[in-house]
Amino acid sequence: MEYHIWTIGCQMNLADSQRVAAGLERLGYRPTAQPERADIVILNTCVVRQQAEDKVLARIEQLRPLKERKPDLLLVVMGCLYRERDLPALQARYPWVDLFLPPSDATGLWLALSERGVFNEAEALMADAEQRHRGLPAPELVPTSERGQVVSAYLPIVLGCSHACTYCVIPYRRGPERSRPLEAILAEAQALVAQGVREITLLGQIVDRYGYDLPEFQGAAETPLVTLLRRLHELEGLARLRFLTSHPNWMRDDLLEAVATLPKVCEHFELPIQAGDDEVLARMRRGYTVADYRRLVARIRERLPGASIATDIIVGFPGETAEQFQHTYDLLAELRLDKAHIARYSPRPLTVATRTYPDDVDPEEKERRRLALDQLQTRILTERNAAYLGQTVEVLVEGYQAKRGRWYGRTRTERTVFFPAPAAANLLGRLVNTRITWTGPWSLIGELTE
Ligand code: SAH
Repeated sequence: MEYHIWTIGCQMNLADSQRVAAGLERLGYRPTAQPERADIVILNTCVVRQQAEDKVLARIEQLRPLKERKPDLLLVVMGCLYRERDLPALQARYPWVDLFLPPSDATGLWLALSERGVFNEAEALMADAEQRHRGLPAPELVPTSERGQVVSAYLPIVLGCSHACTYCVIPYRRGPERSRPLEAILAEAQALVAQGVREITLLGQIVDRYGYDLPEFQGAAETPLVTLLRRLHELEGLARLRFLTSHPNWMRDDLLEAVATLPKVCEHFELPIQAGDDEVLARMRRGYTVADYRRLVARIRERLPGASIATDIIVGFPGETAEQFQHTYDLLAELRLDKAHIARYSPRPLTVATRTYPDDVDPEEKERRRLALDQLQTRILTERNAAYLGQTVEVLVEGYQAKRGRWYGRTRTERTVFFPAPAAANLLGRLVNTRITWTGPWSLIGELTE
């Protein structure tokens, strides 16, 4: 019995896929890279931009002949394509799909498997899961086939989002914001470490809002995420902790302090700005101004001088003038952030932006703006990374590239470092020091110093 999972989209989707894979392997399924061989094919989908949605829909179409040839195949589409109210329409449009499932909740899959009568354990798995992570089998977080290979894992701590940025479809697909109980997260983290994981990245759409909705944190003086980081920090065997994505409005001083003082917590922030113009930010309903963001970057750099800050930017938001775009360009040039994920605005169903503003920046202009920012950040990254030359940096080793005879991993500041060493050195999951001998915008090369 084999399963095949195809995943696109964010880290949350990767985490969801890994959990589904772990559950299936517990039921006796083995992974396959070829959908043709699989008994279960799962597409884990993203619709954050039209481009992603188009890929998803094309993939569903592509699988039609396979399903027709193999009627026993269980074809599952999960993730953000799903919206409960659209279910009848989805089923009518894609009758060859057996099951549509929402993001972060595979209950329907375990149910379908137990209904097929194939597995008694599927029900046990569901009951197990119910208590911990709505439908996802908690103790099995890393698929058996990947044990000992997975060095770095994602751990969702806040599901959904209630911020409602005007461009964003996520609240409509992942539902309102809800934090997972502290104890559930600790148990999962423990399981991950027991299954060989060395680095955990905590996930949430607004991860720094963790816990504000939980009774256990009512009236707490400390930022709940700080409490969580502290507790996770005690886990023996865990080497590193990260968290993403942060919203600028929720980055309190005690969180910066925790990053500065807890050795396992890496000095890296994912802090989307989205636009460098106040009028555009207001229309996006981000809830801060350029001056607020600038002050936050200064605060981070003051407390954590070596920290890296990555950001997200949308170009061509409705009504964005050439001058407003220039403000974004100038801000990136001024702040010299460590990375920018740049996206061209894409109108999404039901969002306030789609309902309120015409998508009036034409595609070539959006592409021109994207390219301009991309070239700027390549320049900034080339320069910032050059500062690593000759330095000794700690790398958590994540894999080996056999073809090139080199190991790789990331610095605490989220730079990928390649370094030559024999495969037999067996460095996977180890913290090593490397001296950087070459730098480029997207990676560094180093040599082992020990
Ligand atoms: N909560 C996360 C959002 C995840 S979506 C955050 O605050 O970053 C990841 C990124 O996709 C967003 O930061 C945004 O830059 C981009 N994005 C979201 N909706 C988009 C849209 N309609 N068009 C283009 N880019 C979009």
